Amino acid sequence: MTNSKPSVLLIYTGGTIGMMQDHRTGELKPFNFKALSKQIPELEKFDIQLSSISFKNPIDSSNMNPQVWIELVTIIKDHYHQYDGFVILHGSDTMSYTASALSFMLENLSKPVILTGSQLPIGIIRTDGKENLITAIEIASAQKNGKPLVTEVCVYFEYKLYRGNRTYKYNSAHFDAFKSPNYPALAEAGVKIQYNVNALLKPSKKALTVHTTLENDIAVLKLFPGISKKITLSILNSLDVKAVIMETFGAGNACTDEWFLTALKQTIDRGVIIYNVTQCAEGKVIQGMYETSSALKKIGVVSGYDITFESAVTKLMYVLGKKQTLEKRKQLLETNLRGEITN
Ligand code: ASP
Repeated sequence: MTNSKPSVLLIYTGGTIGMMQDHRTGELKPFNFKALSKQIPELEKFDIQLSSISFKNPIDSSNMNPQVWIELVTIIKDHYHQYDGFVILHGSDTMSYTASALSFMLENLSKPVILTGSQLPIGIIRTDGKENLITAIEIASAQKNGKPLVTEVCVYFEYKLYRGNRTYKYNSAHFDAFKSPNYPALAEAGVKIQYNVNALLKPSKKALTVHTTLENDIAVLKLFPGISKKITLSILNSLDVKAVIMETFGAGNACTDEWFLTALKQTIDRGVIIYNVTQCAEGKVIQGMYETSSALKKIGVVSGYDITFESAVTKLMYVLGKKQTLEKRKQLLETNLRGEITN
């Protein structure tokens, strides 16, 4: 940067933070960015260079998809050298999916990309949006020795900064809507913003590499006691499926019925990845800890360790999008790429 003030680019995608109530139907709908920034005059007071880009048609984040992720990383790539940090305003419903996807798509980050939003629209007096946005901007502009302090994709919500690909939305009614069960908060905002420096990813010395090929032929098999053979087979044999996230019990356990293990083995032999992700929010998959997971390991089920479901989906999209052999893809899934797993 040539000027001495840190610079932040704010990217507005939509979400409750910028929504207004439709007086006719009572529904909350995304509104344009000008209306949003008018509600936060505090933004003018920042001693930083703040610029913004708004999606032409802001969306409720339930309509988020890989095409929009590509649009987002392209905006970041095109402005990467111009700004010290990026803040993305995003609906909270799928914020963890976007944060996870972006973490894989943006390799070798050396600047912060902070996602935030709110549970109440900014125009409502009790909104949580103002604090979330103002602190997210402060974090995105924070520097040490002239270098960005945070150099990864994060979620900031209700006084906590989290590694984005470790989060999930667990509460739709409280301001405190996100959890990062398997990794500590990266910072906590009180009177001061206290950074957990040891928990932050180290900045990359390599140039930013942006990945824009994502493959979404992914199915999900959530196990439950009594799951039928018919339904299990129909999921495993889904048309063109490349990978199946198998949501297992506890530390990665599944039933040991012969029909079930045979079906899994036949699927793996066809070249489909079976990715073992636990249904527990906390803890990790340890294949081989119990008899009920030893068989999975033997037939080649890939361990998700302590990955969140959101991160598993997007990591698969990223890995399947790479021109790699099946073996290499499986290896990548079991490798910690962006701080998303502890293995
Ligand atoms: N439905 C909204 C969205 O995700 C909820 C929110 O912003 O918190 O876009």
